[in-house]
Amino acid sequence: MRRLYESLFDRIPVSLVLVVVFAVPGYTQKLAITFDDLPLNGTLPPGVTRAQTAKDVLAILKKRHVPPVYGFINAKKLEGSPDGAEALKLWAAAEPVGNHTYSHMDLETNAAETFERDIEENEPVLELLKAKGDWRWLRYPYLHEGDTVEKRRAIRAYLKTHNYRIAQVTLDWEDYLWNFAYARCAAKSDQKAIAWLRTSYLQTASDFVDLGREQAKLIYGHEINYVLLLHLGAFSSTILPDALDLLKKKGFKLVTLEEAQSDPIYDGDPDVGLHDAGTFLDQWMLVKQIKVPPHSDKPYKELESLCQ
Ligand SMILES: [Zn+2]
Repeated sequence: MRRLYESLFDRIPVSLVLVVVFAVPGYTQKLAITFDDLPLNGTLPPGVTRAQTAKDVLAILKKRHVPPVYGFINAKKLEGSPDGAEALKLWAAAEPVGNHTYSHMDLETNAAETFERDIEENEPVLELLKAKGDWRWLRYPYLHEGDTVEKRRAIRAYLKTHNYRIAQVTLDWEDYLWNFAYARCAAKSDQKAIAWLRTSYLQTASDFVDLGREQAKLIYGHEINYVLLLHLGAFSSTILPDALDLLKKKGFKLVTLEEAQSDPIYDGDPDVGLHDAGTFLDQWMLVKQIKVPPHSDKPYKELESLCQ
């Protein structure tokens, strides 16, 4: 019998064996990249424009053949900012856009009706941009889905009636912290500080990707399709190539938001009021009372004091 197996195996070309081994489903995890706070998160170093920031990031996404990347916009930032308007036009000509409310409104400090008006106020600009894809995706500012269950349900019901989908977040390393620090360090041309920003960013990204994946396994018993939250700002184009390399090294296959959220886990709803609970996975960890695995802290203090 053993001989029969061996002789059969001998007849199968090695190349076919390799194809079979590497084609096993689940070998790579799917991940969608998204950018929030368009046209700009944080501040910029002197002489850098919003349009240039968007252009540089778009060039990287194109060069690296990243599937369509949603940019979630706050149209209030366009008031009195032709540069911001130009940045948005550039984004929409290349990538899809979604709703992040008009004024980046916090649902925890506002009534559900006020929040709904802020969603609506953002829509004329989303329509005017004529970007490819469906803009009826809402990304909650601060990922706040409601501090009371009534608010949470009210907004979810509103979104359903108005054909919106919720753009969830399942991986987040609070990249925006580096946008502010980088703008200050670049203004001072502090190369040593900028080098530290790069290493601390990549270390934090790596740690929090691992943590998100651990959370998914604890909640669902397996890995999921992930949605990554990034913010378009001063540091984005400087660090994005390295961040993309990191994701590749960790075995992620980049996909669209639609494909990532075709994972049925995104149909779930913790359905409780939560205060500043974080990502969709953080919310489930709280609701299911699962202990968060040990992980490193983000360098909040250092990022706040650097180049001040
Ligand atoms: Zn935001």
